[in-house]
Amino acid sequence: MTDLKLRATQVHKSFGDNHVLQGIDMQIRRGEVSCLLGPSGSGKSTFLRCINHLETIDSGRIEVDGRLIGYREQGDTLYELKPDEAAAQRQNIGMVFQRFNLFPHMTALENITCAPVFVRNVGKREAAQRAMDLLARVGLSEKAGAYPRELSGGQQQRIAIARALAMEPDLMLFDEPTSALDPELVGEVLEVMKSLAETGMTMIVVTHEMGFAREVADTVTFLDGGLVVESGAPADVLGNPQHGRTKAFLSKVL
Ligand code: ADP
Ligand code: MG
Repeated sequence: MTDLKLRATQVHKSFGDNHVLQGIDMQIRRGEVSCLLGPSGSGKSTFLRCINHLETIDSGRIEVDGRLIGYREQGDTLYELKPDEAAAQRQNIGMVFQRFNLFPHMTALENITCAPVFVRNVGKREAAQRAMDLLARVGLSEKAGAYPRELSGGQQQRIAIARALAMEPDLMLFDEPTSALDPELVGEVLEVMKSLAETGMTMIVVTHEMGFAREVADTVTFLDGGLVVESGAPADVLGNPQHGRTKAFLSKVL
């Protein structure tokens, strides 16, 4: 039994002749909070999307819990999984996007119960009970009946986190979860993420919130040009970066 949750090995991905991921290597331990930083266009979102096979990869491999993501291996060839097989894998991986992507015509509660009820065949009453627990965890018990348009951006994002957790994932991916928010709403979302980290959830978080990275992350990884430039403890990567590109990036965001 290894404590490795995710292993990415030499992941390459191009869009046409745009070689976006140029051989990403990454290892994440169970329970680790890993923050990814990097300039716009460096491939952060693409890499996250490859982890739950929303994107195919051209070469290399991504394993979660030792299981190949998106592909099945026969001899030394990888064959892409069928859509329903990939969807089944994806159920264990929660994703939270910059734009909260809640269903606008559903209440907060319905947004949270939707996937458990329709994808997992959980009973409606049980799903609602569990959704109320999740709403309490994100501090929004009183908003169960509210529609997304009636909620602030921070509240919508907390609902989006609750919705992802409703599928009981064991890995959570966050793609700039606070960058679409007004500054005064960022803190409430980071607080929810911090409390989730404290439960031992494995989390990969693309963020430019350096305070969060410093305080909550176990590892900070700096990506540039589709490659890992530098990775290590937050105090080292943020406080004493070794590479010129990391230094240049940090001097702009800090
Ligand atoms: P980041 O999240 O670090 O800002 P992205 O992963 O979104 O970077 O994008 C990396 C590069 O890949 C960019 O040049 C972007 O234009 C390109 N790209 C991303 N998704 C697609 C797509 N679906 N089709 C074509 N090009 C894409
Ligand atoms: Mg992005």
